[in-house]
Amino acid sequence: METQTLAAVAQGSKYTIDPSFIEASGRSSALLAKDRRCPQCLSDLKKSKDSSDSSFANHRKLIAKCCSKKDGYLKPDMPLMEAIFRILLSGPIKGMAHTGVFKVLSDKWANQKVPKNLSDELVYQIAASSGGYGVQTINSESETKA
Ligand SMILES: [Zn+2]
Repeated sequence: METQTLAAVAQGSKYTIDPSFIEASGRSSALLAKDRRCPQCLSDLKKSKDSSDSSFANHRKLIAKCCSKKDGYLKPDMPLMEAIFRILLSGPIKGMAHTGVFKVLSDKWANQKVPKNLSDELVYQIAASSGGYGVQTINSESETKA
């Protein structure tokens, strides 16, 4: 038996996106990121001839600066995995704590008529099962809370 509850493990965890895991699952990390750019960016991209614009890292940088701040970036009717991926994509490259991701999700879903049954366990399990999105879970049991 585990000594810690899943909720406690979840709360001590951190999530990152590792593009090499996306590639390993046979998908293009650059395309996966590009699909999350806003319509304005996508139409600019079409005009651009510079192919260095379309790396995963570059998409990610611009998503943080631009697309994630637009209205449609996070929508309550998105699957939870998609929402988690988008939150991480617009967050720091080194990853985000579970509690930070959870807060964004609960803020976003708080005003919905049909709230999702968000729980630490659910978010943790979905994030942990997301091979194709390259989301990695880092358990930081050793890190003590301040
Ligand atoms: Zn944009």
